Amino acid sequence: MKGEVMSHIYDHLGINPIVNAAGTYTVIGGSRMSETTLQKIAEAASQHVEIRELQRVVHEKIADMTQNEAAFICNGAASGLYLCTGAAIAKKKGKPAYYLDKQEIADSEIIIFAAHRNPYGQAISQYGATVKEIGYPNIILPLTEQDLEMAINEKTVAIFFFAGDQGGWVAKGGLSFEATAKVANAHGIPLVVDCAAQIPPISTLWDYTHNGADAIVVSGGKDLKGPQASGLVLGKQDLLQYVQTTGFPNYGYGRMLKTGREEIVGLYWALKEALETDHDARDQWAEQQIRILADELATTELFRVERTYPNEAGQPMARASVRFPSDVTSEQVLKLLMQGHPRVMCNSEHDNQVFVNPMTLKEDEIYIVVNKFKEIEKLIERGNK
Ligand SMILES: *Cc1c(COP(=O)(O)O)cnc(C)c1O
Repeated sequence: MKGEVMSHIYDHLGINPIVNAAGTYTVIGGSRMSETTLQKIAEAASQHVEIRELQRVVHEKIADMTQNEAAFICNGAASGLYLCTGAAIAKKKGKPAYYLDKQEIADSEIIIFAAHRNPYGQAISQYGATVKEIGYPNIILPLTEQDLEMAINEKTVAIFFFAGDQGGWVAKGGLSFEATAKVANAHGIPLVVDCAAQIPPISTLWDYTHNGADAIVVSGGKDLKGPQASGLVLGKQDLLQYVQTTGFPNYGYGRMLKTGREEIVGLYWALKEALETDHDARDQWAEQQIRILADELATTELFRVERTYPNEAGQPMARASVRFPSDVTSEQVLKLLMQGHPRVMCNSEHDNQVFVNPMTLKEDEIYIVVNKFKEIEKLIERGNK
């Protein structure tokens, strides 16, 4: 209405927003789109286009930009895993996923290292194919190439591999990517790699597919800074043509994984910006945030800051570990950070410390984090008296 002052939507809803010093966690909104990406989405949303034409043009551009044969935008890396599962079965049976019957799906086998099983792998299992786990997590006796070869048979439609540092979603006990690719390629079995959170480095967009992977899946809503409900499949045309005939806007499975022109254009633009980003400058910015935090908290009694590298997702980016004495618990500090307005979310992996991850902070938000820690020191001192 004329003259009415517009309140922020989160004020309108009575929701207390979070300063994200934890990382690109989906449950708190992943990453943040740039102002330009938001503007491109608004432009895209304001006019009608043929979705299939938009997909064809954008996918071709993205394939070129990322040095891949083909690309497909879906609504998250998890749906990318699901689509690649359908595509691998469809490729083996030589028909679009829409025409596969339950028995054909159930008869198909997918190989995964037991050490790579994690909740995201449900996106593969849910398709209904038989998932064959090989090896054991954290076993002393390592898996061999022969173990993988012996697991392959005429029903095998794909091998799925989870990239990432051991300790996160991946345990010890799988083969290396190189060894897996060697066996998969020798047997002509499509190799799909979950790289959802493996950016940075940006070279993840081509490293795996240039070295034997048939497809990778990446989250659009994590460090690519695209729409939250977006994801990307990249790779060889041979497999990607089936991803395309399985995915939206085709009926069947794809229809449930809708991507609008907002997601398609938003992810395209975010990706373009990610490729144009000066990554060294960004790393230096992150280092600077850690130094600010360390300098500011050096004046406190309670907190000491240490730089750690790499971060929880194994990404080549530094974070700060804020340490405190043994009578203060991590839970206590995390809880106090999330109280008040604004509130701050951090993570903890050990006792008596919390991590401050600069990758999701905006300009100057580090000072909100600094002030929060200073407030907490006062609260804890007062509590002790
Ligand atoms: C985040 C993540 C996913 C899911 O990505 P979405 O884009 O949120 O669907 C899948 N696999 C791994 C390893 C992840 O970290």
